[in-house]
Amino acid sequence: MIVACHACQKSNRLPAARLSEEARCGSCKATLSPPSQPVAVRTAEDFAELIGTSPVPVLVDFWATWCGPCRTVAPELEKLARERPGALVIAKVDTDALPQVAGRFDIRSIPTLILFRSGRESGRVSGAMPARAICSQLGL
Ligand SMILES: [Zn+2]
Repeated sequence: MIVACHACQKSNRLPAARLSEEARCGSCKATLSPPSQPVAVRTAEDFAELIGTSPVPVLVDFWATWCGPCRTVAPELEKLARERPGALVIAKVDTDALPQVAGRFDIRSIPTLILFRSGRESGRVSGAMPARAICSQLGL
């Protein structure tokens, strides 16, 4: 997964299995804390790695750039990511860029949020809603 360094802004490639731990920036050696903002999934391989190896639950936002409700829910997901670094990974999948991933999970409307625990889907919700409602519906 690609995580930007807060100190030098360089992109660091980190194994998804270590996203809940501290790491070190390969460029400036600053400590990289667990991500406190949503992580963009760039390839189907990254998606499989993240879902398959993350030690903490992963909440995936299936979205698209043209989708109004997706823009509404985005700040709610940013809030969740800020509140739970190291305990929850928020990942974003652009359904236009990764249609094969969206197809695999039968995404019929966006935004759809799917929670994965230990590599398996443990719940999903569709539509924009506040962070609190997302948590209560998914048991987070
Ligand atoms: Zn750095």
